[in-house]
Amino acid sequence: MLAVLSGGTGTPKLLQGIARLLEPEDLSIIVNTAEDVEVSGLHVAPDLDTVMYTLAGIVNEETWYGIRGDTFTCHELLRRLGERELLRIGDRDRAVKLRRTLLLKRGKALSDVTKELCTSLGVRANVIPMSDDQLQTRIETEAGTLSFHKFWVVRRAADKVKGVSFEGIENAKPAPGVLDAIHKSRAVVIGPSNPVTSIGPIMAIEEIKVALLRNREKVIVVSPIVGDAAVSGPAGELMRGIGYKVSPLGVARIYREVASAMLIDRKDEKLAERIERFGIRVALADLLMPDTPSRVRLAREVLSLAGIRRGVVSSI
Ligand code: GDP
Repeated sequence: MLAVLSGGTGTPKLLQGIARLLEPEDLSIIVNTAEDVEVSGLHVAPDLDTVMYTLAGIVNEETWYGIRGDTFTCHELLRRLGERELLRIGDRDRAVKLRRTLLLKRGKALSDVTKELCTSLGVRANVIPMSDDQLQTRIETEAGTLSFHKFWVVRRAADKVKGVSFEGIENAKPAPGVLDAIHKSRAVVIGPSNPVTSIGPIMAIEEIKVALLRNREKVIVVSPIVGDAAVSGPAGELMRGIGYKVSPLGVARIYREVASAMLIDRKDEKLAERIERFGIRVALADLLMPDTPSRVRLAREVLSLAGIRRGVVSSI
Protein backbone atom coordinates (compact mmCIF):
# COMPACT_ATOMS: atom_id res chain seq x y z
CA MET A 1 0.00 0.00 0.00
CA LEU A 2 1.08 3.57 -0.68
CA ALA A 3 -0.06 6.62 1.30
CA VAL A 4 0.10 10.09 -0.23
CA LEU A 5 -0.36 13.45 1.54
CA SER A 6 -2.10 15.87 -0.80
CA GLY A 7 -3.30 19.38 -1.44
CA GLY A 8 -5.30 20.32 -4.51
CA THR A 9 -3.02 21.01 -7.50
CA GLY A 10 0.51 19.58 -7.61
CA THR A 11 -0.13 16.25 -5.91
CA PRO A 12 -3.33 15.50 -7.89
CA LYS A 13 -1.21 15.70 -11.06
CA LEU A 14 1.11 13.06 -9.60
CA LEU A 15 -1.90 11.02 -8.45
CA GLN A 16 -3.04 10.79 -12.04
CA GLY A 17 0.23 9.03 -12.79
CA ILE A 18 0.20 6.84 -9.69
CA ALA A 19 -3.39 5.78 -10.38
CA ARG A 20 -2.24 4.29 -13.69
CA LEU A 21 0.39 2.17 -11.98
CA LEU A 22 -1.25 0.93 -8.78
CA GLU A 23 -4.45 -0.90 -7.95
CA PRO A 24 -6.79 1.72 -6.41
CA GLU A 25 -7.24 -0.40 -3.29
CA ASP A 26 -3.50 -0.05 -2.69
CA LEU A 27 -3.62 3.73 -2.62
CA SER A 28 -4.60 5.94 0.34
CA ILE A 29 -4.66 9.71 -0.01
CA ILE A 30 -4.69 11.90 3.09
CA VAL A 31 -6.07 15.27 2.07
CA ASN A 32 -5.79 18.78 3.48
CA THR A 33 -9.08 20.23 4.73
CA ALA A 34 -7.82 23.46 6.33
CA GLU A 35 -9.04 25.43 3.30
CA ASP A 36 -12.60 24.15 3.65
CA VAL A 37 -15.05 27.00 3.59
CA GLU A 38 -18.80 27.61 3.57
CA VAL A 39 -20.11 29.15 0.36
CA SER A 40 -23.86 29.72 -0.17
CA GLY A 41 -24.59 27.31 2.67
CA LEU A 42 -22.44 24.57 1.09
CA HIS A 43 -19.51 22.80 2.70
CA VAL A 44 -16.79 23.38 0.10
CA ALA A 45 -13.71 21.17 0.51
CA PRO A 46 -11.53 22.29 -2.42
CA ASP A 47 -8.69 19.81 -2.02
CA LEU A 48 -10.92 16.81 -1.29
CA ASP A 49 -13.02 17.62 -4.35
CA THR A 50 -9.99 17.99 -6.61
CA VAL A 51 -8.54 14.68 -5.43
CA MET A 52 -11.90 12.91 -5.88
CA TYR A 53 -12.53 14.43 -9.30
CA THR A 54 -8.98 13.62 -10.40
CA LEU A 55 -9.34 9.96 -9.48
CA ALA A 56 -12.82 9.87 -11.04
CA GLY A 57 -11.28 11.24 -14.27
CA ILE A 58 -13.53 14.31 -14.35
CA VAL A 59 -11.36 17.09 -12.91
CA ASN A 60 -11.01 20.39 -14.73
CA GLU A 61 -7.29 20.29 -15.49
CA GLU A 62 -7.13 23.92 -16.50
CA THR A 63 -7.76 25.14 -12.98
CA TRP A 64 -7.45 21.93 -10.89
CA TYR A 65 -10.73 22.99 -9.39
CA GLY A 66 -14.22 21.75 -10.24
CA ILE A 67 -15.49 19.41 -12.95
CA ARG A 68 -14.38 19.50 -16.58
CA GLY A 69 -17.01 20.96 -18.91
CA ASP A 70 -19.25 22.04 -16.04
CA THR A 71 -21.85 24.77 -16.55
CA PHE A 72 -22.37 27.75 -14.24
CA THR A 73 -26.09 28.46 -14.64
CA CYS A 74 -26.79 28.49 -10.90
CA HIS A 75 -23.73 30.60 -10.07
CA GLU A 76 -24.61 33.18 -12.69
CA LEU A 77 -28.26 33.41 -11.75
CA LEU A 78 -27.28 33.79 -8.09
CA ARG A 79 -25.03 36.65 -9.13
CA ARG A 80 -27.91 38.33 -10.98
CA LEU A 81 -30.00 37.92 -7.89
CA GLY A 82 -27.35 39.77 -5.89
CA GLU A 83 -25.54 36.81 -4.29
CA ARG A 84 -21.82 37.02 -5.04
CA GLU A 85 -20.05 33.75 -4.36
CA LEU A 86 -16.43 33.84 -3.27
CA LEU A 87 -15.69 30.76 -5.39
CA ARG A 88 -17.15 30.03 -8.80
CA ILE A 89 -19.06 26.79 -8.28
CA GLY A 90 -20.20 24.81 -11.32
CA ASP A 91 -23.62 23.15 -11.48
CA ARG A 92 -22.45 19.54 -11.30
CA ASP A 93 -19.79 20.44 -8.76
CA ARG A 94 -22.52 22.11 -6.71
CA ALA A 95 -24.50 18.87 -6.62
CA VAL A 96 -21.53 17.08 -5.04
CA LYS A 97 -21.03 19.86 -2.50
CA LEU A 98 -24.75 19.93 -1.72
CA ARG A 99 -24.83 16.18 -1.11
CA ARG A 100 -21.80 16.52 1.20
CA THR A 101 -23.49 19.33 3.12
CA LEU A 102 -26.73 17.36 3.51
CA LEU A 103 -24.93 14.26 4.77
CA LEU A 104 -22.92 16.35 7.25
CA LYS A 105 -26.13 17.99 8.45
CA ARG A 106 -27.55 14.53 9.04
CA GLY A 107 -24.71 13.95 11.47
CA LYS A 108 -22.24 11.96 9.40
CA ALA A 109 -18.50 12.54 9.76
CA LEU A 110 -16.61 14.12 6.85
CA SER A 111 -14.55 10.93 6.40
CA ASP A 112 -17.71 8.81 6.01
CA VAL A 113 -19.27 11.36 3.69
CA THR A 114 -16.10 11.34 1.58
CA LYS A 115 -16.27 7.55 1.31
CA GLU A 116 -19.87 7.75 0.14
CA LEU A 117 -19.12 10.42 -2.43
CA CYS A 118 -16.12 8.44 -3.71
CA THR A 119 -18.23 5.31 -4.11
CA SER A 120 -20.89 7.23 -6.03
CA LEU A 121 -18.25 8.80 -8.30
CA GLY A 122 -16.58 5.45 -8.94
CA VAL A 123 -13.40 6.25 -7.00
CA ARG A 124 -11.98 3.09 -5.45
CA ALA A 125 -8.84 4.52 -3.87
CA ASN A 126 -9.06 5.36 -0.19
CA VAL A 127 -9.52 9.15 -0.01
CA ILE A 128 -9.38 10.38 3.60
CA PRO A 129 -9.73 13.93 4.90
CA MET A 130 -6.86 14.64 7.31
CA SER A 131 -9.39 15.25 10.09
CA ASP A 132 -13.11 15.20 10.80
CA ASP A 133 -12.57 18.25 12.99
CA GLN A 134 -12.75 21.76 11.63
CA LEU A 135 -9.42 23.45 11.08
CA GLN A 136 -8.82 26.77 9.36
CA THR A 137 -5.67 28.24 7.90
CA ARG A 138 -5.04 31.84 8.98
CA ILE A 139 -2.47 33.95 7.22
CA GLU A 140 -0.95 36.82 9.19
CA THR A 141 -0.14 39.60 6.73
CA GLU A 142 0.68 43.29 6.85
CA ALA A 143 -2.96 43.86 5.91
CA GLY A 144 -4.19 41.79 8.89
CA THR A 145 -5.19 38.15 9.39
CA LEU A 146 -6.72 36.58 6.29
CA SER A 147 -8.30 33.25 5.43
CA PHE A 148 -6.48 31.31 2.70
CA HIS A 149 -9.20 32.20 0.18
CA LYS A 150 -9.09 35.91 1.01
CA PHE A 151 -5.28 35.83 0.77
CA TRP A 152 -5.07 33.86 -2.48
CA VAL A 153 -8.38 33.92 -4.36
CA VAL A 154 -9.42 37.49 -3.56
CA ARG A 155 -6.10 39.33 -3.00
CA ARG A 156 -3.82 37.12 -5.17
CA ALA A 157 -1.07 36.89 -2.52
CA ALA A 158 -0.38 40.63 -2.76
CA ASP A 159 0.06 41.07 1.02
CA LYS A 160 3.38 40.44 2.70
CA VAL A 161 3.13 37.28 4.82
CA LYS A 162 4.23 37.46 8.47
CA GLY A 163 3.07 34.07 9.70
CA VAL A 164 0.66 31.18 9.27
CA SER A 165 -1.46 29.45 11.90
CA PHE A 166 -4.20 26.84 12.00
CA GLU A 167 -7.29 27.67 14.01
CA GLY A 168 -8.67 24.63 15.85
CA ILE A 169 -5.38 22.73 15.72
CA GLU A 170 -5.24 22.10 19.50
CA ASN A 171 -8.24 19.79 19.39
CA ALA A 172 -7.84 18.32 15.92
CA LYS A 173 -7.57 14.55 15.67
CA PRO A 174 -6.67 12.56 12.56
CA ALA A 175 -9.72 11.17 10.76
CA PRO A 176 -10.24 7.40 11.11
CA GLY A 177 -7.91 5.58 8.74
CA VAL A 178 -5.20 8.25 8.57
CA LEU A 179 -2.79 6.76 11.09
CA ASP A 180 -3.38 3.24 9.81
CA ALA A 181 -2.58 4.35 6.27
CA ILE A 182 0.69 5.89 7.46
CA HIS A 183 1.72 2.91 9.59
CA LYS A 184 0.69 0.14 7.20
CA SER A 185 1.86 1.60 3.90
CA ARG A 186 5.07 0.54 2.30
CA ALA A 187 5.88 4.23 1.72
CA VAL A 188 4.38 7.61 2.54
CA VAL A 189 4.71 10.25 -0.17
CA ILE A 190 4.54 13.92 0.71
CA GLY A 191 3.29 15.10 -2.66
CA PRO A 192 4.39 18.23 -4.54
CA SER A 193 1.90 20.45 -2.75
CA ASN A 194 2.25 23.71 -0.91
CA PRO A 195 4.37 22.82 2.15
CA VAL A 196 2.89 25.67 4.21
CA THR A 197 -0.85 25.64 3.59
CA SER A 198 -1.53 22.18 2.10
CA ILE A 199 0.90 19.80 3.83
CA GLY A 200 1.50 22.21 6.77
CA PRO A 201 -1.94 21.66 8.33
CA ILE A 202 -1.76 17.88 7.88
CA MET A 203 1.59 17.77 9.68
CA ALA A 204 0.38 20.22 12.33
CA ILE A 205 -2.01 17.59 13.68
CA GLU A 206 0.06 16.19 16.52
CA GLU A 207 -0.78 12.50 16.08
CA ILE A 208 -0.06 12.66 12.35
CA LYS A 209 3.31 14.35 12.98
CA VAL A 210 4.21 11.64 15.49
CA ALA A 211 3.19 8.90 13.03
CA LEU A 212 5.37 10.49 10.33
CA LEU A 213 8.31 10.81 12.71
CA ARG A 214 7.97 7.14 13.61
CA ASN A 215 7.88 6.18 9.93
CA ARG A 216 10.56 8.61 8.73
CA GLU A 217 12.47 5.83 6.98
CA LYS A 218 9.67 5.39 4.44
CA VAL A 219 8.64 9.03 3.95
CA ILE A 220 9.50 10.46 0.53
CA VAL A 221 9.08 14.12 -0.46
CA VAL A 222 8.46 15.30 -4.02
CA SER A 223 9.54 18.93 -4.23
CA PRO A 224 6.88 21.46 -5.26
CA ILE A 225 9.67 23.98 -5.82
CA VAL A 226 11.83 23.83 -8.93
CA GLY A 227 14.72 26.30 -9.05
CA ASP A 228 13.77 29.28 -6.93
CA ALA A 229 10.01 29.34 -7.48
CA ALA A 230 6.83 27.34 -6.97
CA VAL A 231 5.47 25.79 -10.16
CA SER A 232 2.15 27.54 -9.43
CA GLY A 233 0.30 29.17 -6.54
CA PRO A 234 1.53 31.13 -3.54
CA ALA A 235 3.92 28.59 -1.97
CA GLY A 236 6.90 30.91 -2.57
CA GLU A 237 5.37 33.91 -0.80
CA LEU A 238 4.25 31.69 2.08
CA MET A 239 7.59 29.91 2.52
CA ARG A 240 9.43 33.22 2.49
CA GLY A 241 6.91 34.68 4.95
CA ILE A 242 7.59 31.98 7.54
CA GLY A 243 11.36 32.22 7.13
CA TYR A 244 12.32 29.57 4.57
CA LYS A 245 14.30 29.95 1.40
CA VAL A 246 12.20 29.34 -1.71
CA SER A 247 14.19 26.41 -3.08
CA PRO A 248 14.24 22.61 -2.80
CA LEU A 249 16.67 23.20 0.08
CA GLY A 250 14.02 25.25 1.88
CA VAL A 251 11.52 22.44 1.26
CA ALA A 252 14.01 19.91 2.65
CA ARG A 253 14.46 22.09 5.74
CA ILE A 254 10.69 22.08 6.34
CA TYR A 255 10.49 18.27 6.07
CA ARG A 256 13.86 17.24 7.47
CA GLU A 257 12.46 15.73 10.66
CA VAL A 258 9.86 13.56 8.96
CA ALA A 259 11.39 12.54 5.62
CA SER A 260 14.32 10.35 4.62
CA ALA A 261 14.19 10.68 0.82
CA MET A 262 13.41 13.48 -1.60
CA LEU A 263 12.94 13.88 -5.32
CA ILE A 264 14.27 17.15 -6.68
CA ASP A 265 14.46 18.39 -10.24
CA ARG A 266 17.57 17.52 -12.28
CA LYS A 267 18.18 21.26 -12.65
CA ASP A 268 18.64 21.49 -8.90
CA GLU A 269 21.30 18.80 -8.69
CA LYS A 270 23.78 21.26 -7.15
CA LEU A 271 21.65 21.29 -3.97
CA ALA A 272 21.72 17.53 -3.49
CA GLU A 273 24.74 17.47 -1.22
CA ARG A 274 23.36 20.13 1.13
CA ILE A 275 20.01 18.34 1.31
CA GLU A 276 21.76 15.06 2.09
CA ARG A 277 23.35 16.73 5.10
CA PHE A 278 19.85 16.68 6.63
CA GLY A 279 19.94 12.88 6.43
CA ILE A 280 17.69 12.97 3.37
CA ARG A 281 18.59 10.77 0.41
CA VAL A 282 18.20 12.70 -2.85
CA ALA A 283 17.00 11.37 -6.20
CA LEU A 284 16.87 13.45 -9.37
CA ALA A 285 13.95 13.51 -11.80
CA ASP A 286 12.02 15.82 -14.11
CA LEU A 287 9.52 17.30 -11.70
CA LEU A 288 7.36 19.33 -14.08
CA MET A 289 4.12 17.51 -14.93
CA PRO A 290 2.40 19.39 -17.76
CA ASP A 291 0.83 16.28 -19.31
CA THR A 292 -0.07 12.64 -18.72
CA PRO A 293 3.24 11.08 -19.87
CA SER A 294 5.23 13.34 -17.51
CA ARG A 295 2.85 12.47 -14.64
CA VAL A 296 3.22 8.73 -15.24
CA ARG A 297 7.00 9.08 -15.60
CA LEU A 298 7.32 10.88 -12.27
CA ALA A 299 4.95 8.41 -10.61
CA ARG A 300 7.27 5.61 -11.77
CA GLU A 301 10.25 7.36 -10.20
CA VAL A 302 8.35 7.78 -6.94
CA LEU A 303 7.31 4.12 -6.84
CA SER A 304 10.82 3.03 -7.66
CA LEU A 305 12.22 5.17 -4.84
CA ALA A 306 9.59 3.61 -2.58
CA GLY A 307 10.71 0.13 -3.63
CA ILE A 308 7.32 -0.64 -5.13
CA ARG A 309 7.34 -2.51 -8.42
CA ARG A 310 4.49 -1.69 -10.77
CA GLY A 311 1.55 -3.97 -10.16
CA VAL A 312 3.19 -5.63 -7.16
CA VAL A 313 2.02 -3.72 -4.18
CA SER A 314 1.83 -5.23 -0.77
CA SER A 315 1.96 -4.04 2.77
CA ILE A 316 5.06 -4.61 4.76
P1 GDP B 1 -3.57 23.96 -3.65
O1 GDP B 1 -4.32 23.20 -2.63
O2 GDP B 1 -4.35 24.33 -4.88
O3 GDP B 1 -2.71 25.07 -3.10
O4 GDP B 1 -2.58 22.91 -4.31
P2 GDP B 1 -1.31 22.12 -3.83
O5 GDP B 1 -0.80 22.58 -2.54
O6 GDP B 1 -1.56 20.66 -4.03
O7 GDP B 1 -0.39 22.50 -5.02
C1 GDP B 1 0.32 23.70 -5.14
C2 GDP B 1 1.76 23.33 -5.30
O8 GDP B 1 1.91 22.41 -6.38
C3 GDP B 1 2.59 24.53 -5.64
O9 GDP B 1 3.52 24.71 -4.61
C4 GDP B 1 3.27 24.14 -6.95
O10 GDP B 1 4.62 24.52 -6.97
C5 GDP B 1 3.12 22.64 -7.01
N1 GDP B 1 3.01 22.15 -8.38
C6 GDP B 1 2.08 22.43 -9.31
N2 GDP B 1 2.36 21.81 -10.47
C7 GDP B 1 3.50 21.10 -10.27
C8 GDP B 1 4.31 20.29 -11.11
O11 GDP B 1 4.02 20.05 -12.28
N3 GDP B 1 5.43 19.73 -10.54
C9 GDP B 1 5.79 19.97 -9.24
N4 GDP B 1 6.89 19.39 -8.76
N5 GDP B 1 5.05 20.76 -8.42
C10 GDP B 1 3.92 21.32 -8.93
